Amino acid sequence: MAADYGKAVCPMNAPMIQAPAQEMLKLLEELAVFSAPGAGVTRLLYTPEWSRAQFFLQERMAGLGLEVVSDNVGNVYGKLTGRNPEDKVILTGSHIDTVINGGKYDGAYGIAAAVTALHYLQQTFGQPLRTLKAVSFCEEEGSRFPLTFWGSGHVTGLYDGSEAEACADSEGVTLEAAMVECGIGMGIRSDKAESGDKSGSGTVGMGSTARRNDIGAFVELHIEQGIILEKTAKQIGVVQAIAGQRRFMVEVCGTANHAGTTPMHMRQDALAGAAEMLLALEGLAAEAGEPLVATSGRLEVLPNTPNVIPGEVLFTLDIRHSEEEELEAFCDCILAAFKGIAARRGLTLKIMPRLSASPAPMDGGLTGMLESICRNQGRTYRNMVSGAGHDAQLFAPQCPTAMIFVPSRAGISHSPEEYSSPEELAAGLDVLTALLYELAYK
Ligand SMILES: [Zn+2]
Repeated sequence: MAADYGKAVCPMNAPMIQAPAQEMLKLLEELAVFSAPGAGVTRLLYTPEWSRAQFFLQERMAGLGLEVVSDNVGNVYGKLTGRNPEDKVILTGSHIDTVINGGKYDGAYGIAAAVTALHYLQQTFGQPLRTLKAVSFCEEEGSRFPLTFWGSGHVTGLYDGSEAEACADSEGVTLEAAMVECGIGMGIRSDKAESGDKSGSGTVGMGSTARRNDIGAFVELHIEQGIILEKTAKQIGVVQAIAGQRRFMVEVCGTANHAGTTPMHMRQDALAGAAEMLLALEGLAAEAGEPLVATSGRLEVLPNTPNVIPGEVLFTLDIRHSEEEELEAFCDCILAAFKGIAARRGLTLKIMPRLSASPAPMDGGLTGMLESICRNQGRTYRNMVSGAGHDAQLFAPQCPTAMIFVPSRAGISHSPEEYSSPEELAAGLDVLTALLYELAYK
């Protein structure tokens, strides 16, 4: 019965597990076709192109011999049942949605690689010891509705569906209505968490409750969306942590007055004050050093008139770091600096917190395995922090979680220009496949 299993070769000793990259690349191209018109790929949650992509994936998974399972928010799974059903599931995948005019790699790469890896492992080594699942999460980007992680957030319990009624897209379509239009979400709010599969009907969103308590490890393969791997000429990024974030809205108030009649020493110019604050932000962030990053991406000036001294400025702050204490300390420091600048200039200052997300450290055991796999496969790699948010950050507090990055050309993503070479994508697939082998077959 398990005759073939003895042929399984440990990738630590025989490192060149080379999953069929062509199959993955083809799947990636096929997925890119499911897009709204326009440049790049636009596949927003619960739109017709989104539905077609998830249906296509289900058919492909089934065709490759995976058992298809879907849940009531539209997450799609391809399952390879293990010989030890009491063991927890090894889950890998990413999100199927994109930003508007995005690229074809963000999210879809992690799904195409997951499906290909499972197919390859099954073909090569037979039934795993532990159940393997490839997942296509329904949503991560927050591009259509004003929330993010709608897929993995249901799997991990961040959402329970009650959010769907009050949340609407820019056309006024509620999330709930969009789900119903797709045939998804019936009875979602009465669902209770459960650990087993109520196995799929093969129809997106008509399957079991999304919440899962049976996940033993989550692994996400993703493009870097930054320029570090390319700049340092590394094939693989072993993510150590996903950065935590703090966002604030800052309001600076001075006095709007005549630009011609008010002497320079008699002004309370809110924009000049804000400018000094933003330069302080840049300087202090540079002093703090990597991996801290701090950005002010939006600024509103009132009355925003050429011949009036600005009376009021509103600007955003986005601050990220992989260590909670460092993040907290930098925020305290920058807000104190802002207060000092405001006081000296006779301006009033209001700081309004908008978001606080803790850093998500990846599992040390899994990152160690990834480093060994890279060394054994003869691949160049570096340990790094992800400054961008990912589905993996929701799993990290709940189960051992790992992320693998491959280079993004010129660091560009969320753009039709997004690109990673077939060789780079294939290297990520091989590392993922070897890790899944370690987790599910040994
Ligand atoms: Zn992504």
